[in-house]
Amino acid sequence: MSPKKGRVFSGARPTGRQHLGNYLGAVKNYVALQDDYDCFYCIVDIHALTTVETTENLRQNTYEMALDWLAAGIRPDETVVFIQSQVPEVAELHLFFSMVTPLGKLTDLPTFKEKAREQPHNVNYGLVGYPVLMSADIALYKATIVPVGIDQAPHVEFTREVVRSFNYRYNTKVLVEPEMKATEYPKVIGIDGQQKMGKSLNNHIEIAGTPEETKARVMQMVTDPQRMRRSDPGNPDVCNVFSLHKVFSSAEQVDSINAECRRAGIGCVQCKQLLAENMNHSLEPFRSRRAEFARDPSYVWEVLKDGQVRAQKVAAQTIREVKDAIGLP
Ligand code: SF4
Repeated sequence: MSPKKGRVFSGARPTGRQHLGNYLGAVKNYVALQDDYDCFYCIVDIHALTTVETTENLRQNTYEMALDWLAAGIRPDETVVFIQSQVPEVAELHLFFSMVTPLGKLTDLPTFKEKAREQPHNVNYGLVGYPVLMSADIALYKATIVPVGIDQAPHVEFTREVVRSFNYRYNTKVLVEPEMKATEYPKVIGIDGQQKMGKSLNNHIEIAGTPEETKARVMQMVTDPQRMRRSDPGNPDVCNVFSLHKVFSSAEQVDSINAECRRAGIGCVQCKQLLAENMNHSLEPFRSRRAEFARDPSYVWEVLKDGQVRAQKVAAQTIREVKDAIGLP
């Protein structure tokens, strides 16, 4: 095996069963990165506490998400898959980082302002410190690469600044400034044809759904809004069904739909049926692996436990170096 090009860190909140947006925007990329990088993939359950109203589903959502990741092809023998709260060193680094981060910088961030607007009844301290905790997540494992969508680029830049401030303040080089790696498929639109796919908007398609559930969701998809009747020509360029055909259908099928739609040679019902068929066919190997792993629920928890041990080994070493740099015993 050739030497790895660096270390990747990525975290995702425990949102349970993954949808196509998660899969195409993140998980598929997670799987691919394993070939070239030493990867740390973290389920960031502490981050979730800044916004969740109730924690009763946290454990189940963690399990379901990890199950989807493993079934999608994350290889736990190479990659470290773990739960953020099980490595408490991250809270320690978060605290040290909070001493080198100006408060005004945090309250000025557009993401903080947006969250504060969304939940005015719960503008908690954790929400303000969210980017500091995220920086600690990345720096704790000395990640050199963080895969993100374009809209998350400022988060990585923030981490670089915090790391620089820490290294400068304590005249050290122990922490690493990570680089951003943009994902290839940054944004997946939901079945409403307008907004980014997400569970909170109920415009998502779960990758672990049954073929019937998948088909039902695809048939609800909004198409070219200008195409009122079957006899009207359509415009695939503005149709989300067509965007997903480009992911799940063969090049010949995509070319044919592109041409036929424009001359009203194919109807939207037929076009969606074909998409559902191709999507189900493409997700079938993932679904069988998922069913196999789900037969023994202890498997996922064992993977996460093993990930905790491996992550903690790196984290403890970083914290030791950080404390030495600061001058703490
Ligand atoms: Fe969209 Fe297909 Fe309908 Fe054309 S035929 S508008 S690509 S669903």
